[in-house]
Amino acid sequence: MDLGLPPAIVTLLTFAVIGVLLWLFLTRTVLGRGFSVPLRYMLRKPETAQYPEEPRPVTPRFHGRHQLNRYPDGLERCIGCELCAWACPADAIYVQGADNTLERRYSPGERFAEDYQINYNRCILCGLCIEACPTRALTMTHDYEIAADSRQALIWTKDQLLTPVPEGAYDTPHTDREVRDRGLNYYGGLAVTPPTLHGGRFRPAAAAPSARAGQVVPTGAPPSTDLAAGGDH
Ligand code: SF4
Ligand code: SF4
Repeated sequence: MDLGLPPAIVTLLTFAVIGVLLWLFLTRTVLGRGFSVPLRYMLRKPETAQYPEEPRPVTPRFHGRHQLNRYPDGLERCIGCELCAWACPADAIYVQGADNTLERRYSPGERFAEDYQINYNRCILCGLCIEACPTRALTMTHDYEIAADSRQALIWTKDQLLTPVPEGAYDTPHTDREVRDRGLNYYGGLAVTPPTLHGGRFRPAAAAPSARAGQVVPTGAPPSTDLAAGGDH
């Protein structure tokens, strides 16, 4: 059909009609909307991650594998209470508690975790266990590279979970005399939190030893402990 229009106008109108039909197809039909996704991504910069050579950063609150923490003097925070195991919906934690003694103290509490295991065949990294822990002994790291080629290797034991001994401290067990002589307030809570974090409303532990500190640093005659038995630390 000859409309008597110049060829340039006809070409322009043809492209305009094709463009409108394409736009209607890509935005108004299910099939078109499906096609539009790869079309859009074809024009974007690829985001291929070169893992594992270049691991991608995780978000600050990412839940990776667990760790068992220590106090600055090397004592273990875990008191073997098993609350983490009871909180776990996947039954992935096993804790075997034992009593601290005057000569062999692992934690400031009455008990410590003699055995501690997390089964990563079961764990769903939900974080309920770390919420349940009363001493912040159990926390989660940003490490997610825990794949293994056997089920046995996915059962992490206490020695794998326990953090390294802090600089200047030494490994457990300690003796009660050593712990008492340090005078640390292990359970001070807010009383030992830096004033910048609580607005200075609480006195520091050194100035106001809390009643709880007395449980850790017993008053009265020191227990009969042979310091030499503690070795060179
Ligand atoms: S992260 Fe969740 S599933 Fe894993 S051990 Fe803790 S509570 Fe259990
Ligand atoms: S990790 Fe925490 S909750 Fe679990 S046994 Fe130790 S102190 Fe208790």
